Amino acid sequence: MLKHNLGYPRIGVKRELKKACELYWTNKIDSHTLFEVGKKIREENWKTQELANLDLIPCNDFSFYDQVLDMSFLLGVIPESYLSIPMIKNRIDLYFSMARGFQKNKWDIKALEMTKWFNTNYHYIVPEFNKNQKFSIFSNKIFDELEESERILKSIKKIKPVLIGPISYLFLGKEKDNSFHRMDLIEDLVTVYIKIINKLIDKGINWIQLDEPILVLDMTKKEKEAFQYAYKKISKTCSNINILLTSYFDGILDNISLFKSFFVKALHIDLVEDSNQLEKIINFIKESEMILSLGIIDGRNIWKNNYTDSINKIKKTIEFIGEDRVMIAPNCSLLHVPIDIEEEKNLHKEVKKIMSFSKQKIYELNDLDLILKGNKEILLKNSSLLEQSKISSIFHNKKIKERATKIKEEDIRRKNPFYIRQEKQKKKFNLPIFPTTTIGSFPQTKEIRSLRNKFRKKELTKEEYNKKIKYFIIDVIKKQEKIGLDVLVHGEFERSDMVEYFSEKLNGIMSTNNGWVQSYGSRCVKPPIIYGDVSRTGDMTVDWICFAQSQTKKLMKGMLTGPVTILKWSFVRNDQPISHTAYQIAWAIREEVLSLEKSGIQIIQIDEPAIREGLPLKKKNWEYYFNWAIKSFLISSSGVKDETQIHTHMCYSEFNDFLEKIANLDADVITMETSRSKMELLKAFSVFSYPNEIGPGVYDIHSPRIPSVEEILDLIKKASKELPIKNIWINPDCGLKTRKWEEVLKALKNMTSAAKIARTKLYNQSP
Ligand code: GLN
Ligand code: ZN
Repeated sequence: MLKHNLGYPRIGVKRELKKACELYWTNKIDSHTLFEVGKKIREENWKTQELANLDLIPCNDFSFYDQVLDMSFLLGVIPESYLSIPMIKNRIDLYFSMARGFQKNKWDIKALEMTKWFNTNYHYIVPEFNKNQKFSIFSNKIFDELEESERILKSIKKIKPVLIGPISYLFLGKEKDNSFHRMDLIEDLVTVYIKIINKLIDKGINWIQLDEPILVLDMTKKEKEAFQYAYKKISKTCSNINILLTSYFDGILDNISLFKSFFVKALHIDLVEDSNQLEKIINFIKESEMILSLGIIDGRNIWKNNYTDSINKIKKTIEFIGEDRVMIAPNCSLLHVPIDIEEEKNLHKEVKKIMSFSKQKIYELNDLDLILKGNKEILLKNSSLLEQSKISSIFHNKKIKERATKIKEEDIRRKNPFYIRQEKQKKKFNLPIFPTTTIGSFPQTKEIRSLRNKFRKKELTKEEYNKKIKYFIIDVIKKQEKIGLDVLVHGEFERSDMVEYFSEKLNGIMSTNNGWVQSYGSRCVKPPIIYGDVSRTGDMTVDWICFAQSQTKKLMKGMLTGPVTILKWSFVRNDQPISHTAYQIAWAIREEVLSLEKSGIQIIQIDEPAIREGLPLKKKNWEYYFNWAIKSFLISSSGVKDETQIHTHMCYSEFNDFLEKIANLDADVITMETSRSKMELLKAFSVFSYPNEIGPGVYDIHSPRIPSVEEILDLIKKASKELPIKNIWINPDCGLKTRKWEEVLKALKNMTSAAKIARTKLYNQSP
């Protein structure tokens, strides 16, 4: 029984990669220094996995920005515009320009689109294919890393290079125009994959891992055909290598029949997300010689593995197909969990006992192996630990559990329908048409971060800290007034992260010191841990928002994070239905909303950027999700008066497929991302006749590029063609915390200028 891993986090235990990339981008270190940092991280990762006795260790799971962008680079999928920039002299700058855009002198090229990796909070760079797309081996990264790993691990047989499989790769990309279908590129693509695999074989590898997470989706006929074509060809041509085909994030039963017509050495399935598939899959592959890789360690969550459960699954599989045909692994790449729990010194001891991060998860595989070989002690220790947590009062509070699920009809409905509320709100606020606002956060400068750190380390008293934060608030209000924005925000300076801030104030949730997970590029997040029943202890934001409101005559928007997002961006307990945990958080947020309203705040934004990514991957599971997700949002937002305007914000997602559900949230205003996808979304909103107000993001804040007045005006024009003008808001597509002040000032100035022009030019042309 081989123990293996699909991928290891690459940011470094101390986020070395993030720091190095950011220094490189600001010209503070050279590429050589950057590469050295990458090398050190890889070395450490390989050694850690070797020490944990893994039989197969992944390579090429490292990336300077994103593994999908790496694939594009490997395959030469590089849009012409990036290649034509004469100032770009080396590969790494070309690579980063695709990820981050390029703006210098007269050159102004946008970044490639970025979107969420399946239902995770990881973002990948979307490959862009043109009609005559040709593939070729463009980058040597995978080969270089293979050689490097061989030097470190001494045995090439232990190394398993990882590639995103051809079908998932095509699936994740998009066509530059509508004149072709990207699946039709499969023939040429497969030829290049075969070249790559052969080159790897020449270097002596035994195994290769091809990730095909598309297998867990509802695949179209075209995708299925492409899949069979590709794997028939690859398995036939590359017969002298062990191919491990992986699926993850859900089950593959609906697509298992694809494996009838070709043979791969091993198939990896996700038994954390779908343990019910095991029996049927065993039955299906029983007669073949295929090895089954059991994804039994949760690579998306931080709880200790339940060894009794895992051993049962392993034994059952062994019973049917024999030990030689079983592998064990985490269900997916460990990219989605932090690196080492030993770095956490301040965690609640009882909770820490039942937690495990990447490094620990790798050792869990070893434990399972030892248990199978007869070690009872490890098994007993594990089960008694998990038993204890079932009855501990740290994890359970009966009162909160009961209240959360008692939801009455009037708890989840505003008092009056939108059109009545809209009239009252318009009258009361008297805002211009195309009102301008921002999404909440403003640049988190070094100064602010160091201020928060000092407070955290108790080098500042609460009074000193509050006073300083207030200066920042006063400053950001002045700046917004000067720019001419209509609805202001307080800037979120007191928050290091929109979820962490609330989780630190709510009962039942805790945050870590160093539990970083990559979100996109150099951006990392530290998901909090929801371990117990959640409740509110007191006001969380009221003082700050009221202070901000007291500093301006303009409307100040209260800023909260919604229940689904808090849940989705945290590591959630897995011992009760997720909906129950969601309702608990929702009630806590509702109390905060009401407290803001009572204190005179008239506009309250409840951010739900994560609502789309929470969507199950298979359509058949959507209804169930929507039911609890929408209910949770409504619990938090429905307690207010008609005159109180509820905003919500969503970002980075394809929304087209669930507009009706967004409408069911019944927020008075929704602000959202559309600029990177060039307002495609608006058509859908228009066709659907989305009833409430909407602020389609008019520029992309994820890139340092500054949008021009003309380009924003152009987007406003487009929006006005699709939506009633009285419903349109003008705003950036997300919070501004990751940007620099100089960028923000210019961009927002251009935005308000565009809104002003639009007010005179477009008024009265409403459809
Ligand atoms: N209010 C948050 C901010 O502005 C929203 C962030 C988000 O959508 N991810 O930062
Ligand atoms: Zn956003």
